[in-house]
Amino acid sequence: VKISKLGEFGLIERLARIVQPSDADDVIVGIGDDAAVWHSGDRFVIATTDTMADGVHFLSKNADWHAIGWKAFATNASDIAAMGGRPEYALVTLCLPPDTDVANLDALYEGLRECADACAARVVGGDIVRSPVMTITVAVFGRAGEQHGEPLLLRRNSARVGNRIAVTGTLGDSAGGLRKLQEADESHPLVTRHLRPEPRIAHGTAAAGAGVRCGIDVSDGLLQDVGHVCEASGVGALVRADDIPLSNDLRAAFPDDVLELACTGGEDYELILVGDVELLARLDPPVTIIGEIVGDPERRVRLLDAAGNEINYERQGWDAFR
Ligand SMILES: [Mg+2]
Repeated sequence: VKISKLGEFGLIERLARIVQPSDADDVIVGIGDDAAVWHSGDRFVIATTDTMADGVHFLSKNADWHAIGWKAFATNASDIAAMGGRPEYALVTLCLPPDTDVANLDALYEGLRECADACAARVVGGDIVRSPVMTITVAVFGRAGEQHGEPLLLRRNSARVGNRIAVTGTLGDSAGGLRKLQEADESHPLVTRHLRPEPRIAHGTAAAGAGVRCGIDVSDGLLQDVGHVCEASGVGALVRADDIPLSNDLRAAFPDDVLELACTGGEDYELILVGDVELLARLDPPVTIIGEIVGDPERRVRLLDAAGNEINYERQGWDAFR
């Protein structure tokens, strides 16, 4: 069986069976969430890793190396934020063709360090190997807040019927920025949202500290990422199209596709937070409520227009092999 047939999520499930079950009770969150969590001494460590590959996530021929470095760190920090934690330390692995220009790597590392600085984290090590294709892998380790010896975490499996669904920031800007890049409109304000996403660490730690227990970041696309929560929690979701926060830049640039970009575009690295309406309404920084969790044995995510009619998109979001 080829992995294109299995898809990214089928492959994760299959490989997880080989290394699970972990019966070590110091592992609090294993495979299947935004990041892993384990207990070490008096701390709860959160760990995640992400890879960017030439030809898939960037094109080395005309790359903005500083931006690639920023994004390589930001995607990891976003997964830590999606667990409710703070990033602290990072390891960086570079696979490089021998003809790589060293000036590009200087710029890459400056971008990495800038994002790490913005997150109050540090790069402390890594590895460099020769390879026919350039890849950048960042692993970030962080920590969760705690209360009475228990970690304060945002899990995918903690959505309950009656909870509201909220998001930080605005959605679709990254996908809009990518389109502008493809149209060679590099100075458009949406491009920054695509190249330099800002991990929502303050939102994640505030939510976890306030008692919210469910969250995920928007990496694949809003509908698909809400779907991951529904899958893990055994629930369904209703998302109201009119309530999804959209930027004026996106509305102006893509008036016809703005909703589809926001729902399926991905790479926004905003947070989806799920919890009691009173908790979500009180959060600081504030969030926007866009829907609710409902009972549904089929665990569907349904997008509704103002009249309550369902909107369907062919493509729900990103899968690495499909
Ligand atoms: Mg994630």
